Amino acid sequence: MEQLCHFIDGHFVSSAEWIDVIEPATGHVYGRVASGGSEEVQEAVAAALRAWPSWAQRPAAERAALLNCIADRLEERLEEFATAESRDQGKPVALARTLDIPRSIANLRFFAAAALHVATEAHPSPGALNYTLREPLGVVGCISPWNLPLYLFTWKIAPALAFGNTVVAKPSELTPLTAMMFAELCNECGLPPGVLNIIHGYGARAGAAIVEHPQVRAISFTGSTATGEYIARTAAPMFKKLSLELGGKNPTIVFADADLDTAIPQIVRAGFLNQGEICLCGSRILVERTIYSEVVERCTRQVETLVVGDPLDERTEIGALVSEAHYRKVLGAIEQARRDGGRILTGGKPAQLEGRCARGWFVEPTVIADLPPTCYANQEEIFGPVVTFLPFEREDEAIELANGVCYGLAASIWTENLRRAHRVAAQLACGIVWVNCWMLRDLRTPFGGIKQSGSGREGGWEAYRFFTEAKNVCIKL
Ligand code: NAD
Repeated sequence: MEQLCHFIDGHFVSSAEWIDVIEPATGHVYGRVASGGSEEVQEAVAAALRAWPSWAQRPAAERAALLNCIADRLEERLEEFATAESRDQGKPVALARTLDIPRSIANLRFFAAAALHVATEAHPSPGALNYTLREPLGVVGCISPWNLPLYLFTWKIAPALAFGNTVVAKPSELTPLTAMMFAELCNECGLPPGVLNIIHGYGARAGAAIVEHPQVRAISFTGSTATGEYIARTAAPMFKKLSLELGGKNPTIVFADADLDTAIPQIVRAGFLNQGEICLCGSRILVERTIYSEVVERCTRQVETLVVGDPLDERTEIGALVSEAHYRKVLGAIEQARRDGGRILTGGKPAQLEGRCARGWFVEPTVIADLPPTCYANQEEIFGPVVTFLPFEREDEAIELANGVCYGLAASIWTENLRRAHRVAAQLACGIVWVNCWMLRDLRTPFGGIKQSGSGREGGWEAYRFFTEAKNVCIKL
């Protein structure tokens, strides 16, 4: 049995209470994780406060060197981390090896380099010189979800640390394993005690204690819209800085002039990567009427080739859903789609595996057509291997359908008409638009959504601005 402890002030700290950790592919408990609350958060914040002044004053090059050391150690143990992530989350090991862990390494290296290259503005005028200082905030809280565990954990803590803050972090209670392994790397590299603290446990206890702590100056949160709303409500009266990266119901818009040979594999990838458990997944596929039947048929045929299997099997493309509750939620959404008149073109039920995975939480990749735009499956985030198809006649109708949800995270447009691509991109109500691609990431770009997909942006300069406070100095000349 794995035993996953808190990481406070450089030490692994045991707990009076524990939560079972279950391998989604088998349904078996393989370990237990510490269940913390306000007491542990109090200790972690105190350690982070003690560590902060010297961490903030350290030359950026030293902070960067420590982050690069952790990245190097992670790269040396990539295979071990990829297997752990796959076991803990249910994702195919091939995906963890090529996406999750490499991206975690890239996050660390990117922000280590960024810390060496940031600069601030000066505003000279005839009678005065204004210049801006950017100072770290102090102790910040980083709360991450279960879908891309180490990838999103490092996406938050790397900029926070690189720009001179100390951190109290909380990974999801469903996927705590790689965060704990990451803490070992921090100690191996000599990260000073208290600079990074990890409190495990339930969101409503451990997470809420971080949000409510008066000395935590900012909260960087990725997770559901419901939790984001609670965090905004709780933190606003304390004037904490907030970055909220929440849910999505992202459209994939396919115009009749799209290069379908390129588009179809990418549309399927956008719908089903990581079992559809990515906030950016294109789960609503809007297709121009003249090519609707062709696109639906070709996509469905490709979805039928996706290999559902043991996440630890190299050939697996669709692994297990993260938890029994989530598995039931996804199957419930499919049932609701049936009741709403949806035509299930493929999938639509649990995938029954044999052997070690016989009791795992697998759902067949599912394609649904003929649903009205206003129904549950076309409005709410399912966060599973389920896509819907909707036809449109004209460009303005496509834009109206794309924008007709409460979310506004990402969209992708497939067209060979450059003018149309610019025109449509400008009118989409969301934070990220991809043209003829999906999830092609450059870590310098602003990342985040609007409406119920959250507020604030991560990445590049946005992360620098978020994790520092501007102070203007005006000198009369
Ligand atoms: P969640 O909101 O249930 O949990 C996210 C994290 O918040 C977990 O660590 C959880 O323990 C914690 N938490 C829960 N309640 C809390 C509370 N009251 N106070 C403080 N912390 C609390 O989300 P989830 O189910 O883990 O993740 C799935 C969601 O995340 C989906 O909606 C998905 O779209 C979203 N997501 C968004 C992005 C993005 O960048 N926009 C990326 C990945 C996932």
